[in-house]
Amino acid sequence: MQYFPIFVKLQGQACLVVGAGEIAARKIDLLARAGADITVLAQTVKEPVLRIQTPLGLTIVQKNFTPSDVEGFKLVISATNNPATNELVAASAQQQGILVNVVDSPALCSFIFPAIVDRSPIIAAVTSGGAAPVLARLLRAKLETLIPPGYGHLAQLAEKCRGLVKTRISQPEQRRIFWEDILQGSVAESVFSGNLQKAEQQLLAKLDQDPKAEAEGEGEGEGEGEVYLIGAGPGAADLLTFRALRLMQQADVVVYDRLVSPEILDLARRDAQKIYVGKQRQDHALPQEDINALLAKLAKAGKRVARLKGGDPFIFGRGGEEIETLMQQGIAFQVVPGITAASGCASYAGIPLTHRDHAQSCVFVTGHLKEGDINLNWTQLASPNQTVVVYMGLVGLEKICAELIAHGSPHDLPIALIQQGTTRLQRVITGTLATLPAKVSAQEVKAPTLVIIGTVVSLHDKLRWFQDSSADTEC
Ligand code: SAH
Repeated sequence: MQYFPIFVKLQGQACLVVGAGEIAARKIDLLARAGADITVLAQTVKEPVLRIQTPLGLTIVQKNFTPSDVEGFKLVISATNNPATNELVAASAQQQGILVNVVDSPALCSFIFPAIVDRSPIIAAVTSGGAAPVLARLLRAKLETLIPPGYGHLAQLAEKCRGLVKTRISQPEQRRIFWEDILQGSVAESVFSGNLQKAEQQLLAKLDQDPKAEAEGEGEGEGEGEVYLIGAGPGAADLLTFRALRLMQQADVVVYDRLVSPEILDLARRDAQKIYVGKQRQDHALPQEDINALLAKLAKAGKRVARLKGGDPFIFGRGGEEIETLMQQGIAFQVVPGITAASGCASYAGIPLTHRDHAQSCVFVTGHLKEGDINLNWTQLASPNQTVVVYMGLVGLEKICAELIAHGSPHDLPIALIQQGTTRLQRVITGTLATLPAKVSAQEVKAPTLVIIGTVVSLHDKLRWFQDSSADTEC
């Protein structure tokens, strides 16, 4: 180990920063977060430091650096652009046994700054010892995505209840099991979803439970279950939210339907039970009421259930109905929004849904046929300066175009059909209200497809950026 990692307590400690430019300001900001008492020494003080002088209570000394300036400080940072000054600062501090860092000069440093993930009081630090700072930063970015923002609050809750738990559970081994359950179960989830009060109540309730009764249960998932209604986005796995991914990885059971791609399903916990509940257009693998009942049953059996839905659960996803059943039965749940097909497909097709020159509003409608008809407000949908997005509009495409024309839309209004948006199999077929239906029926189109109508579609040729499979089929 080239460097020994330690965390230094700087609360109220005198620290000196030599230099007062942009880089110095960044280091000052870091020291201030740790509560240091900061003196800045420089001949000229630049704007970035002046801006933070009052809020951070900095002491500013305007003079040239001399070796005796380091006296009395616990830690010194040199951030000047003068190599001779930097060397002098380093030598003076080293001579007096004071920790010193010279920005961008590892050879002059007695300590280095790691890349930090700050979830105080939890702090993760990464360094490459100067060998590959970008690699350390990449690793830090990975950690940022892995560690939920609420981790700090979780640690604070643990700290608050630590004494009480210690008196109530005297056996260290049992205490460890208790904390493992708290820190990765429903209590942690309540913290992450911002419900600190509920989290504390849940923790206290678990403390009141008879640990023997717990031990006699079936182990995993025993106790109260819950349901995570998760929007899995339109297809591309990396369009999932951090929260969606985290909850998928801790669920005991995953209930999913056709729109959830295999790549996304692969991200669930490997040993989780996976239940397909279908939803093909004519062939509903499981009626909605049965899905609602299934979720409730699994949660009541103590399972953490990830209910994965394509796109966003609250946009043509019947998410409202599923949580209504859970609500009625007093089952804990949370809803995780996802990227809906309209925004995923529009972005990946280079079709902005609103645009100052084209559309000041955007409507999402369903083109689902009921007894051969589509019941929509055609007059409203045919009005100009808006974008209309039709979900489930493939079968009724011809009818949709005809109705819009009949209600005043121009024949040549641009329209696009996007197949399997956001995935490698994405294909965009464009045309006008008059031409698209014939163009689409002449090709083999695979579900799911989304229809976007409005003059914004004319921007597709100019703004397309995603390499989809359209090119293969057009030639
Ligand atoms: N809750 C989902 C919509 C479910 S309705 C959401 O927010 O996106 C199902 C319809 O969504 C499909 O018929 C299709 O019109 C649309 N859809 C979903 N994913 C799609 C995709 N990747 N490409 C094109 N259309 C998609």
